[in-house]
Amino acid sequence: MSAKQKVTVAYGDGIGPEIMQATLDILFAAGAQIETEVIEIGEKVFRKGVSTGIADESWESIKKNKVFLKAPITTPQGGGFKSLNVATRTTLGLFANVRPCRSFFPYVPTNHPLTDMVIIRENEEDLYAGIEHQQTNEVVQALKLISKPGSEKIIRYAFEYARVYGRKKVTCMSKDNIMKQADGLFHKIFDEVARDYPEIENNHMIIDIGSAIIADRPHSLDVVVTENLYGDIISDIAAQVTGSVGLGGSANIGEDVAMFEAIHGSAPDIAGLDIANPSGLINAACMMLVHINQQSVAEKIKNAWLKTIEDGIHTTDIYNKDSLRKVWTQEFAKEVILRLGQEPVRLRPVHYHEGAMNKIMIKKRPMAKKELVGVDVFLDWDADGRDPNKLGEILRALNGHGMMLSIITNRGVKVFPDGHPETFCSDHWRCRFMSETDGGKVTHDQILAILNEIKESGLDFIKMENMYTFDGERGYSLAQGE
Ligand code: NAD
Repeated sequence: MSAKQKVTVAYGDGIGPEIMQATLDILFAAGAQIETEVIEIGEKVFRKGVSTGIADESWESIKKNKVFLKAPITTPQGGGFKSLNVATRTTLGLFANVRPCRSFFPYVPTNHPLTDMVIIRENEEDLYAGIEHQQTNEVVQALKLISKPGSEKIIRYAFEYARVYGRKKVTCMSKDNIMKQADGLFHKIFDEVARDYPEIENNHMIIDIGSAIIADRPHSLDVVVTENLYGDIISDIAAQVTGSVGLGGSANIGEDVAMFEAIHGSAPDIAGLDIANPSGLINAACMMLVHINQQSVAEKIKNAWLKTIEDGIHTTDIYNKDSLRKVWTQEFAKEVILRLGQEPVRLRPVHYHEGAMNKIMIKKRPMAKKELVGVDVFLDWDADGRDPNKLGEILRALNGHGMMLSIITNRGVKVFPDGHPETFCSDHWRCRFMSETDGGKVTHDQILAILNEIKESGLDFIKMENMYTFDGERGYSLAQGE
């Protein structure tokens, strides 16, 4: 058993205090080696004028203890309040969002009784960087950023998670058939990391078919690792198909700090009535115990909790005709405590592997040789009936300073040379200039000269993207039809 771990605890708002009390009673009764340090978050703090709902000294407690068990809070409507979850995630670098989705059939109705999967979602990058620009009257752009270290961190975490939780398979979901560079990088790093875990099965699915399988055959999946946006969407689908959204816990994990909480909110409609189901927070607390290497306590609590559910001891929200007894929140906790040491019979018990997760170490990669080979200049152009051939003529007539126009695309589709008149053209044009010599390098000075020519010709360039090769490999996508 590890030494006592200090845990920062927030009782939150609404049903928060009730479910936190129930959860902590169970943790201590089971012998969790933790010491709690309580901080205040949520409504009261918002009312004091702190826009994130958490005071500076509370950040210090979380940073010092590195483990945060959080009850839900109520975010006041309107008026410049920020999401505490987003603030916590970004401030503390919590790169992994972990959401187990398991069915508890027949105690919780679901069409997918065998579901037992975990979604591990990258939390820091992708389209959530929120870098967006309107560039023309018609077109807005959002930047999707995928990094090697960001991808490696989340993918290694997924394999470590599988190892420690005794899971058999990790599935990567991406859309690399379309986003060959960004999602291609995520997939490539997945294949690379998977080789370090030969004992764990691995596979890759395109996110669309992967989502369909979550909706149709979730029992065939085990651990799923994916990018931020895809993970946001599929973790809700997966939670929903289990039918047990209210019972789920989740974790946000960083290199140093980790936060554990229930999936649901503060349920102000039932606050103070002692009828809330504490299971989401109990399940989150079990994840916390595994995280701090107290697997045997986590296992004891989880199995006692499964046995309580299986025995038909249910809170109001899941009470049904087959339940044995309806219990209050604190009574439910007592029933779990009574069953510590027991295992469920119909529901599958859990067994966690002993041993801590390895610290996530990013591989040092050699610097690739980066060479500038061209530039994509984006134009806002709404003249000459948007005829791509006219634009092509104007650009080809410019002094290219050793570079030449190779193609023009509109929303990614090649429209010059040899475009199809049927292709719809917006006012947003990508004009690709490459070296006049095949495969030749270009310089920043050449690019500046071309931009100057474009400006002098009266065209409106709205942005440019340099094109590079890395160790001779193309670092940019080809256009559709190029
Ligand atoms: P909610 O999850 O609080 O409640 C939705 C419904 O589910 C309600 O009918 C509620 O009574 C019920 N419910 C939720 N948890 C339950 C439990 N443990 N036991 C029994 N019934 C339960 O969602 P909401 O009503 O949309 O949001 C309420 C507040 O919670 C809002 O202020 C929202 O911003 C906040 N919220 C906080 C978090 C968080 O802190 N992580 C997450 C989501 C929502």
